[in-house]
Amino acid sequence: MKHPQRLVLVLGDQLDLNSSALRDFDPQSDEIIMIESANEAQYVWSHKAKIALFLSAMRHFAKSIEALGYPLTYIKDSSLTIVETLKEQVLNKSIKKLVCIEPGEWRLKQAIEVIAKDLSIDLEMREDDHFYCSRQEFVEWSANKKELRLEYFYRLMRKKHHVLIDADGNPEGGQWNFDQDNRKPYPKKGPGIIDAPAAFEIDAITQEVLAFVEKTYSDHPGSLESFNWPVTRDQAVQALEYFVEYRLRNFGVYQDAMWIDTPFGWHSILSSSLNLKLLNPREVVDAVLVAWKKYSLDLSTIEGFIRQILGWREFVRGMYWLDMPQMAKDNYYEHQNPLPKWYWTGKTQMACMQDAIGQTLQYGYAHHIQRLMVTGNFALLAEILPQEVSEWYLAIYVDAIEWVELPNTAGMALFANGGRFTSKPYIASGAYIKRMSNYCGSCKYKPEVRYGQEACPMTTLYWNFLIKHRDQFEASPRTRLMTANLKRISDEDQQEITLHAKRILNQLDDL
Ligand code: FAD
Ligand code: SF4
Repeated sequence: MKHPQRLVLVLGDQLDLNSSALRDFDPQSDEIIMIESANEAQYVWSHKAKIALFLSAMRHFAKSIEALGYPLTYIKDSSLTIVETLKEQVLNKSIKKLVCIEPGEWRLKQAIEVIAKDLSIDLEMREDDHFYCSRQEFVEWSANKKELRLEYFYRLMRKKHHVLIDADGNPEGGQWNFDQDNRKPYPKKGPGIIDAPAAFEIDAITQEVLAFVEKTYSDHPGSLESFNWPVTRDQAVQALEYFVEYRLRNFGVYQDAMWIDTPFGWHSILSSSLNLKLLNPREVVDAVLVAWKKYSLDLSTIEGFIRQILGWREFVRGMYWLDMPQMAKDNYYEHQNPLPKWYWTGKTQMACMQDAIGQTLQYGYAHHIQRLMVTGNFALLAEILPQEVSEWYLAIYVDAIEWVELPNTAGMALFANGGRFTSKPYIASGAYIKRMSNYCGSCKYKPEVRYGQEACPMTTLYWNFLIKHRDQFEASPRTRLMTANLKRISDEDQQEITLHAKRILNQLDDL
């Protein structure tokens, strides 16, 4: 083919043949470009499974493009960044017009806009229609709002897209939120039999990628031994069908529950497929609504699940684009501690952290409460620099792309933006973890002990945090109750807690 008229850039998290970038693709005159850049795997110290998932999914997608007969330039293992590689190609091919979908990262969006300007080419950056709410719609919704809260946004999305709304325009079941039914721990005897997640064949493409990643990124964290992520659209659809048939039924009730060696619980494990755009959130919501009727599932489970997709997922994306680049710099509490080294190895004596980090290294996955109330909670209480924490989450989870990772980490888990979209810091002591899991039973520490050798670090640091920020907590009706409990702790004990917390904070690597 002579020089194409338009070059269509498809990024590693834009793997949908029906995406807006390809809707008017003309194989006679246009060409697609996909770029594997070593820089993407290295700019944070990525988990091997995350690198492998992206590479395998991209190579499978490239195959489906070729099967359509579309011209494609696929660049493997470029030592340059995506944008540098793109620049080279634009110059080589004398491209005048570049088409792409808005990237999921602020930095990449800026960089593409800059090279288009530098090279004086026409850039058409199209909206990503893998979301219910466009960026512009979110900006309009957020304008003039005193408080940016998920609940109001979620209700609007439910009404607008007519999801779980009855014939009279009211929420199904008479309420918007069934959260109170969705917070149970597993029974005392344990979770019982949980249907295992769908399993996928490791084909030749994935095998090649796994060998490549093992060799090239041997010093990176995580393991490839349990790699079982959907890498094609067909596999992602299978994962969705399997989830709604076998695992959705108990999703709601045990959404927050944790148990040793129970890495996936009843969760959907669909985030990576959604974020790579192998699945569209609309089809996920539709499948869940169909399963609700077909299997007579509880409304609380259905609402709890849909809230995550139509609510949280859309909301955090809107917040990301609204608040970047500031969100990446926020540090409300001015925390400066470095991330303990064991976040990268799981080698700590805290049983909860050991389990959550251990499974993260094994699979590149932990469920929401493990991320928020175990690793995230500890990072906040241990006063760790938000940017180091965010880097860890971005590196270590297979579903991590900055638009979704950063608001969850900085905004939700770390309160780094001072409560821009949450009403209080999500903090908890060992008592919460004991209630929601069996972690504490096998731990060297004791969740109810506040200071001394046996004290649970979560508990010591929790009370220390409340003592330090007492004024802030007392100022808000949502958090006043938390400091009210401080009044039951004597002044002497509070001093001991503060002293013990200082010792812990000075030796975080030793926990
Ligand atoms: P399920 O529990 O089955 O939930 C269903 C779907 O809802 C998920 O697949 C996901 O697409 C969506 N969802 C649920 N909660 C959220 C949320 N808070 N924000 C956005 N979408 C949500 N999610 C990511 O996709 N990528 C990330 O990098 C990421 N980083 C996180 C970091 C922290 C500190 C925290 C607290 C949460 C993070 N989350 C992230 C959100 C959530 O933990 C994951 O989406 C979820 O655990 C993925 O597992 P699952 O597919 O089994 O989800
Ligand atoms: Fe975690 Fe504390 Fe329980 Fe140990 S005692 S598992 S550190 S909460």
